[in-house]
Amino acid sequence: MSNNIQSVRGMNDCLPDAADTWQAFEAIVCDWLRRYGYREMRTPILEHTGLFKRAIGEVTDIVEKEMYTFVDELNGESLALRPEGTASSVRAVIQHNLLYDGGKRLWYAGPMFRHERPQKGRYRQFHQVGVEALGFAGPDTDAELIVMCADLWRTLGINPTLQLNTLGDYESRQRHRQKLVAYFEAHQDVLDEDSKRRLHSNPLRILDSKNPAMQALNDAAPQLMDELDDEARAHFDALQALLRANGIAYEINPRLVRGLDYYNRTVFEWVTDQLGAQGTVCAGGRYDGLIAQLGGKPAPAAGFAMGIERLLALMEVAGTPLATPVPDAYIVHAGDAAEAFAWQAASALRAAGLAAVLHCGGGSFKSQMKKADASRARYAVIIGDDEAAAQQVTLKPLRGTAEQTRVELALAIDSLKNATI
Ligand code: ATP
Ligand code: MG
Repeated sequence: MSNNIQSVRGMNDCLPDAADTWQAFEAIVCDWLRRYGYREMRTPILEHTGLFKRAIGEVTDIVEKEMYTFVDELNGESLALRPEGTASSVRAVIQHNLLYDGGKRLWYAGPMFRHERPQKGRYRQFHQVGVEALGFAGPDTDAELIVMCADLWRTLGINPTLQLNTLGDYESRQRHRQKLVAYFEAHQDVLDEDSKRRLHSNPLRILDSKNPAMQALNDAAPQLMDELDDEARAHFDALQALLRANGIAYEINPRLVRGLDYYNRTVFEWVTDQLGAQGTVCAGGRYDGLIAQLGGKPAPAAGFAMGIERLLALMEVAGTPLATPVPDAYIVHAGDAAEAFAWQAASALRAAGLAAVLHCGGGSFKSQMKKADASRARYAVIIGDDEAAAQQVTLKPLRGTAEQTRVELALAIDSLKNATI
């Protein structure tokens, strides 16, 4: 078997049992987004590499080392598998001038690609649901994004905690940046390699370091919170007031950062300690500079992205059941007249909205009944030539203790639709 082709490392198949769970999850998510007035947008999985360099930033883990990039041999263009969804969303919004008549509430879902070390909760193809509220400047939008997450967590039966921070505005970040660089320069000897590299390109990211040896230094670093100007402080205060009014608990984490200039004001993450090291299930914030950065008419923007694999893992830990569908009926038949009637019965059941598996491949009643059991169907619909002649079927419950009954097809459909087993 070893020379059989396997899937690419870090990229998972979603087999039928798992796909049932994903579909149930997606149905909940679609309904949740509909109820908040967000509309879906679908963009291509491949984009020009330059889009991500501009949108995410050259000095980021994603662009520096995680992006799947290749040259299209047919025309020499550098293309990338999208590592996240915001860049594409903003690109599409600018390209199609979607903000011409005001703000838009948008969402997307789908696979993202990052060349990371695969481990539990970290894959090379993973899936996100993301939300973008474009064209809205106020703290009410930031609050809406957070409130809607909390609402989804309740539906999913999970309880991650909210970490919140503000990055202030451009000028205060520049002031903070200068103080930060001076501080880290004075402690060059303690900086690890990554941090030295980031010292001048992206010093804010040093604060995000996961290296335990850097913690004490980072804890004592100058805080952006001390540099906030009045407007940014008022925005942050108003957001917190709205969160309190909506009963949302949060922790302020001054170490929560995004390293790029177009991120500003609100940042938040929903984290759990129940998934080991991969504990962030959703990350978001405000990026008022991004639309202009990508060449659009300046407009404010905020959003978040959640990792579906991590959310499903958390739901499993929490024991949240997700309904998985089974066929309503498995139709067994023997004899020519029976087969013709079985096709009719199958299409009548399906037209009535029932899931009906029509036995294929012939065989005895006994072997067909084994297949019916294995199909997990609620009922076997049994059709012999006798039943066919009478335009009837025998309904046999495959679970529970109820007796089988022979009835008209229309009646069988009624009882299948109304039966509770
Ligand atoms: P991390 O610190 O875990 O690498 P990140 O900051 O790179 O996360 P974002 O770019 O903010 O993640 O993506 C939003 C969410 O997408 C994350 O909170 C996480 O739930 C999920 N996510 C990110 N990368 C992966 C991955 N490689 N595999 C699975 N889920 C991921
Ligand atoms: Mg990452």
